Amino acid sequence: MIAVFVGMLIYFLTFEISGKSEVITNPLNNRTQNMEQTVFKGDVISSDNVVIATTQNAEDGTEYRLYPFGSLFAHTLGYTPMGGAGLEDSQKIKLLTSHNTFLHQLTAELLNQKIRGDTLHVTLSYALQSYCYDQLGGRNGTIIVMEPKTGKILAMVSCPDFDPSSIEEQWSSIVSPENTTGNLMNRGSQGLYAPGSTFKMITLLEYVRENPATWRDFSYNCSGSYEVEGTVIGCHEGHAHGVVDAYGALTLSCNGAFVEMSQSLDPVSWRELCEDFGYNQGFSMDVQYKKSRFSLTEDATAWDLAQASIGQGTTVTTPLLNTMITSAIANNGIMMKPYLVDSFTSDDKTYESVTQPVVLKQCITASEAAFLTQGMEYVVKDGSGYRAGSSFAQVAGKTGSAQYSSEAGRYHAWFTGFAPSDDPQIAVTVLIEGGGSGGEVAAPIAGNIFNYYFALQQSK
Ligand SMILES: [Zn+2]
Repeated sequence: MIAVFVGMLIYFLTFEISGKSEVITNPLNNRTQNMEQTVFKGDVISSDNVVIATTQNAEDGTEYRLYPFGSLFAHTLGYTPMGGAGLEDSQKIKLLTSHNTFLHQLTAELLNQKIRGDTLHVTLSYALQSYCYDQLGGRNGTIIVMEPKTGKILAMVSCPDFDPSSIEEQWSSIVSPENTTGNLMNRGSQGLYAPGSTFKMITLLEYVRENPATWRDFSYNCSGSYEVEGTVIGCHEGHAHGVVDAYGALTLSCNGAFVEMSQSLDPVSWRELCEDFGYNQGFSMDVQYKKSRFSLTEDATAWDLAQASIGQGTTVTTPLLNTMITSAIANNGIMMKPYLVDSFTSDDKTYESVTQPVVLKQCITASEAAFLTQGMEYVVKDGSGYRAGSSFAQVAGKTGSAQYSSEAGRYHAWFTGFAPSDDPQIAVTVLIEGGGSGGEVAAPIAGNIFNYYFALQQSK
């Protein structure tokens, strides 16, 4: 008897320690359905203590998942049916697991009552998410707010969107060929866009690395256009910037100056710098994401170098990676892993498991980060990004107007930046599809978000 008992104990312990998650996530078993027999899926709560997903009983006694704010958190929360997406899917086992005390669980079992699964506390702030959603104002695009020092995502909105409450009813129309809006896609982490002039930070750093003794002497006289292999690359709206140095080129976002810098760059070491910043790389994340691409090789032509220097050509990035790069610059060159799951607590509040921030890598040196921060301050103080300025703190950032069609005037509007520049609390990235000029359209939205965030902090 003792031998049988000890054998069973060892078997269960082994299962608990090593095999549990494998068995649970194996689609061939119905463990999650079994869990749903005894446990309600736990709530999801914002960082400012607002319930953003909960399980309720319908009049006929059936359970349903309620999202009180409809589409506001659609792309991060996601949904469970129809294959699943977002946190609702990636965290479903934890939401269906209870860490209530043994006595609580035993009592519920004896009374044949279901217990509530653990509560997921997300890093997203309801107040900031709502504000960013309003700032997007129904336009196609995305806004991300992140803490550079930790990687916590404080807001992530994407439009067009969908209501996760009725995903099953909407499914056939969402996936029908007539729906070309891409509303299921989280544009923040899955949208791939030409980075445009937001890429110039990387070009500038590569130029400085390859020309440590002479970059301060860089000078370019901009007439509004630059000819490469017989094709003209213009500055935005054909503007002639006159004589600029390296910092001046970044401040005014002068395409000609960057194309000039690019012609002597080593495409392989440039690509390695991009890869240090996360291009062509994967990492694990709470929501689905796509890899950003920088594809120059040693046989790159003058035209390839020119296009790459201004974030056009074959280079594409997600707004999330752009936020991570900006955050790494803000954080002394250290890139943190972005995350949305702040903690799990049991329904009886006796258990808590908190996510610890994770360093992804030291992308660049602290002095290189300080050099870029200085340049990005100039952009907001005196250059194309002045509309992102805040009355609360010095903002450092970069605008971008990324051409996406050969027709004139077709630009995605970008801004990515952080504040305060000497003690960064938040990084903000704004992308408006087809929005036009980054300085005119995206930068003022970022400025509003900086003001809103710091006013909110002061009122606490
Ligand atoms: Zn120019």
